[in-house]
Amino acid sequence: MIEVQTFRAEVRQWLADNLVGEFAALKGLGGPGREHEAYEERRAWNQHLAAAGLTCLGWPEEHGGRGLSVAHRVAFYEEYAKADAPDKVNHLGEELLGPTLIAYGTEEQKKRFLPNILNVTELWAQGYSEPGAGSDLANVSTSAELVGDEWVINGQKVWTSLAHWAQWCFVVARSEKGSKRHHGLSYLLVPLDQPGVEIRPIVQLTGDSEFNEVFFDDARCDASLVVGEPGQGWGVAMATLTFERGVSTLGQQIRYKRELEGLIGVAKTSGVIDDPLIRHKLTESWTGLQAMRSYAMATMDVEQPGQDNVSKLLWANWHRELGEIAMDVQGMAGLTLPGGEFDEWQRLYLFSRSDTIYGGSNEIQRNIIAERVLGLPREAKG
Ligand SMILES: Cc1cc2nc3c(=O)[nH]c(=O)nc-3n(C[C@H](O)[C@H](O)[C@H](O)COP(=O)(O)OP(=O)(O)OC[C@H]3O[C@@H](n4cnc5c(N)ncnc54)[C@H](O)[C@@H]3O)c2cc1C
Repeated sequence: MIEVQTFRAEVRQWLADNLVGEFAALKGLGGPGREHEAYEERRAWNQHLAAAGLTCLGWPEEHGGRGLSVAHRVAFYEEYAKADAPDKVNHLGEELLGPTLIAYGTEEQKKRFLPNILNVTELWAQGYSEPGAGSDLANVSTSAELVGDEWVINGQKVWTSLAHWAQWCFVVARSEKGSKRHHGLSYLLVPLDQPGVEIRPIVQLTGDSEFNEVFFDDARCDASLVVGEPGQGWGVAMATLTFERGVSTLGQQIRYKRELEGLIGVAKTSGVIDDPLIRHKLTESWTGLQAMRSYAMATMDVEQPGQDNVSKLLWANWHRELGEIAMDVQGMAGLTLPGGEFDEWQRLYLFSRSDTIYGGSNEIQRNIIAERVLGLPREAKG
């Protein structure tokens, strides 16, 4: 396997050579809270990366990936963030569904779907949450019934990120009537462009719409498009979540560092840096970033109990706090909209409120640590 340092140098050089011309204008665009920015252009960039073999780096070579280690992928994300390369559009396919299909899919499913995830021609959404099933995902009530050679799906998903741009959705649905909790669920691959699917964007605090309500009204998918055994979808759904591991965390921290430095720049220009309270908060923020980085480095190769939960708590709370400091730095100016639109810092403040909710809320992370890592008594379930 290629040396990590050699690979890192190759990635750096490739980005320097390719993030030019029309792509140079995309630097820094996209990401949570900013997905609306140059979406089509970022998709073209993502396809350009794919053509150079720079997507799906951890997938096995037999499935079109590079079979690279965590250290290689961290190096990639660090160089990617340093180059200020635009956020990719295919995260859910590349990082979540792809690895799930590789582990649990049939040969036909792999052949049908993996190449189009690799070359970014089919995009995916994640259909887990429902109005009555968020933290308590086992409460899913969307139903799926096998009728002839098709699954017929009825129900509603919510907060479905990027479904308005996706062609497909992986859906957790109740396929055994009367079943309860995590029993009797199936993991289905559902095409979104069909009469039985309605996608309604939800307007966020920022005024943009990154997530949606998705309604299934006799929506259909082929009987063969169940991943794993019918009725055993809970295990597959949980496996998908474990693939959401923080390989990109170290790269993400380079972006965070840039945001913090930008904010310090704003404070210096406006003079609020002379306020001791602001200086204190900015210094605390910098310290938090160092602690987050040290934890990510220390747990990169050595699995620690609860590390995903600790990592989620660290970055989500740090980033939400940064949004609050951004408002403190802006003072009264943060409350006005001179150009009629939110600026970078207002957007950061508003969207970072969701950091401690998505991917498992603060309370859920702490519950998992309490029960599974510390062995404290389990909470009563209704
Ligand atoms: C930006 C964003 C993008 C998202 N994208 C997707 C997506 O693409 N696909 C998808 O399926 N979902 C998505 N979600 C949904 C996300 O997974 C849920 O919001 C999350 O699981 C919380 O569920 P909920 O919103 O129903 O809140 P609830 O589960 O109703 O929780 C409400 C509050 O109660 C607390 N709480 C709940 N249970 C407990 C407990 N047992 N102990 C202590 N406190 C508890 C929670 O921490 C929270 O503060 C997204 C959410 C956001 C914010």
